[in-house]
Amino acid sequence: MRCVLLSETLDLRRLFGPALAGIADRLEIVDDDGGVRPDIPLALAWKPAPDSFARYPGLRALCSIGAGADSLLACPGLPSALDIVRVVDPHQAEAMAGFVAWHVIGHQRRFADYATNQRAAAWRRLNPRRPGDVPVGLLGYGHMGRRVGAALAVLGFPVLAWGRTEPTTVDPGDPAARFHGAAGLDAMLSRSEVLVNLLPLTAETSGILDAGLFRRMRPGAYLVQVGRGEHLAETDLIAALDDGHLAGAALDVFATEPLPAHHPFWRHPGITLTPHEACEAGPEAVASTLLATSRALREGRRPPDAIDRARGY
Ligand code: NDP
Repeated sequence: MRCVLLSETLDLRRLFGPALAGIADRLEIVDDDGGVRPDIPLALAWKPAPDSFARYPGLRALCSIGAGADSLLACPGLPSALDIVRVVDPHQAEAMAGFVAWHVIGHQRRFADYATNQRAAAWRRLNPRRPGDVPVGLLGYGHMGRRVGAALAVLGFPVLAWGRTEPTTVDPGDPAARFHGAAGLDAMLSRSEVLVNLLPLTAETSGILDAGLFRRMRPGAYLVQVGRGEHLAETDLIAALDDGHLAGAALDVFATEPLPAHHPFWRHPGITLTPHEACEAGPEAVASTLLATSRALREGRRPPDAIDRARGY
């Protein structure tokens, strides 16, 4: 089976070269030469050219290079019958857990205050609170959220988790108190000191981190935003930080990336930011997703990590 690399902005061959070479005996990887190819059923894609779907009319599945499928779903002219496949990489979730734990511990142990004190050569002990006194709420409890929740629980933080649907079974090993729906969100917000956004970007979740949600968070709460930039109402966050309702925010994702140099987030004292680097899917995970997808297409099955296009994730 053949798989074409489709991107206007990234050199996918360079990014994933060795991993793709490792599966070349099972999947022929083809570069996009601008021509019409009805014989290719599979693509690895990131921001493909707008005419791609017209030039590859035989496509049956489009693989993302990451955990989220939102950017592929937003492609103009995306055929409705195409399966959109995301990458589910345990190593990526592990890296996300470390990244979130760094921020949660940074808030609990007041790392920012130590940095300020160091600049003033001030030897000041801050008597940090115990992790057990800092409940962490997770917006989204899927592949990423569960790994983050497990890591935080091992460190002693009480974990609360919000999803779209009510859990149908009780997992005795699940460390999180579970919530769902609008009422569940209110209950979780009122009980969390740190809120971590691990939601996919969908029509329902876009703009969810807004003034109304910040008001329902506890005074002195801390936000860790690792979902998508479009989840956040930026001016509402600045207002909630400036009026002292929120203690701070760690932001990894932004509506405009790279974040423009003049953006107020860069210099806001309550904000710690990183350039969308919480974690990435590994090239080997991308290659094995392509293989599993090609196998499913050959056998007439739905690819294992295909998203539900109607629900958006
Ligand atoms: P999953 O699809 O595995 O999990 C999604 C979770 O979000 C599920 O628990 C789902 O609920 C919940 N959810 C979806 N819609 C709603 C809603 N309307 N209301 C309440 N809960 C909802 O996704 P992943 O965990 O793999 O990834 C989540 C997101 O993390 C990605 O889409 C991406 O945006 C972001 N991400 C960011 C990275 C970074 O570097 N900053 C790296 C990787 C991912 P339910 O369980 O009921 O279905």
